[in-house]
Amino acid sequence: MLPVIALVGRPNVGKSTLFNRLTRSRDALVADLPGLTRDRKYGEGRLGNCDYIVIDTGGISGDEDGIDQRMAEQSLQAIDEANIVLFLVDGRAGLNPADEMIANHLRRQEKECWLVVNKTDGIDPDVAMADFYALGIGQPVPIAASHGRNVTMLMDEVLAPF
Ligand code: GDP
Ligand code: MG
Repeated sequence: MLPVIALVGRPNVGKSTLFNRLTRSRDALVADLPGLTRDRKYGEGRLGNCDYIVIDTGGISGDEDGIDQRMAEQSLQAIDEANIVLFLVDGRAGLNPADEMIANHLRRQEKECWLVVNKTDGIDPDVAMADFYALGIGQPVPIAASHGRNVTMLMDEVLAPF
């Protein structure tokens, strides 16, 4: 079975940056503007001899209406389509109400879910992770998508059963 990995999280946590790293494509739009990737976006990647599909999403911000509502729906659909969810949070910004909302949704799913604390470049990963145990999604994994820190290690673990 080809693993399908959904990247979810509130806008601006680094989903598209990770998508680009995982797919080695520059297709997903990375921008400082939160919420720019509005629809689902599919890419292919490979680790060792394991192929996988990655879905990038626009994000879930919490009080959705209009375009944000559409973004959130895309994220929920991506979760449905995937067999693995990487739930990204921002290790610099700390815990956010939108993170808690997404965690509540994910806890109700029976989907394999990894809590990924991004942007841990240049900061103490233990301090960055501390906030996020409260989400009840399990042991956080610190990465830096833009620098590649820990990304291969994360994917080794995520893809181990495949
Ligand atoms: P998305 O909205 O979740 O898709 O987030 P993006 O991938 O567009 O990234 C949002 C911002 O965070 C951009 O300015 C990225 O350059 C920055 N960013 C992403 N990953 C990292 C990281 O690992 N470390 C740092 N310091 N910044 C990052
Ligand atoms: Mg994006």
